[in-house]
Amino acid sequence: MSYAVISDVHSNLEALNAVLEALKKKSVTDIFFLGDAVGYGPDPDKCIEILTRECTVLLSGNHDWGVCGLTDVSFFNVYARAAIEWTRTVMSKEHKEILRAFPVIARPQNGTVTLVHASPFEPDKWHYIISPTDAAVNFRFFYTAICFIGHSHQPFIMEQIPSGKINIYKNKITLKPDCRYIVNVGSVGQPRDGDPQAGYAVVGDDTISIERIGYNIEATQLKMKRFGLPHPLIERLSVGL
Ligand code: ZN
Repeated sequence: MSYAVISDVHSNLEALNAVLEALKKKSVTDIFFLGDAVGYGPDPDKCIEILTRECTVLLSGNHDWGVCGLTDVSFFNVYARAAIEWTRTVMSKEHKEILRAFPVIARPQNGTVTLVHASPFEPDKWHYIISPTDAAVNFRFFYTAICFIGHSHQPFIMEQIPSGKINIYKNKITLKPDCRYIVNVGSVGQPRDGDPQAGYAVVGDDTISIERIGYNIEATQLKMKRFGLPHPLIERLSVGL
């Protein structure tokens, strides 16, 4: 029995399709999506259509809220804001309604795991968990053994041992029964850890692995150019930063 957790697709259809193709071969029972379906990339409508069809749990992220007018986008950087504004003009009304209805927290697998886009502490305020110090605070704000997050586009596995100490792993662990975990599953559509391949997590009975799969980056970039999306957003896909 295994399931997958994916996040931050950001309208990148080629990356999403590559991940779903890879997951088919692993015959996962469920795919959970942690939010940011849209923003940055060229295919918002197609990505939402596929995500709603393929995922059993879907959350909202800050870019989804930005497109729906639920969060103030003046805090976004100039390129992110331009992409949000473009997305608003092309996306269907129906899909905006669907995005607007997604929750910001869920506890699937019979309530044994927590899912949020950004952080279990104030999940609708989009705080970043980057350091073990950030994680230490957040371990107090969920009660399950594992919490999956996205948002920073930088994958990690943080393990809190019973003494409170936090160990950091890059991409694969065997779960220990007395430990708790915050797992950033990385980003499907705009990785920022220096590896341009799409990222996602596969969870087995007692393992978690963060995996990567290459996709046709040039195809995504060509569409972004055609739609006049900001140049730095196009370029960063090549380098994964
Ligand atoms: Zn994101």
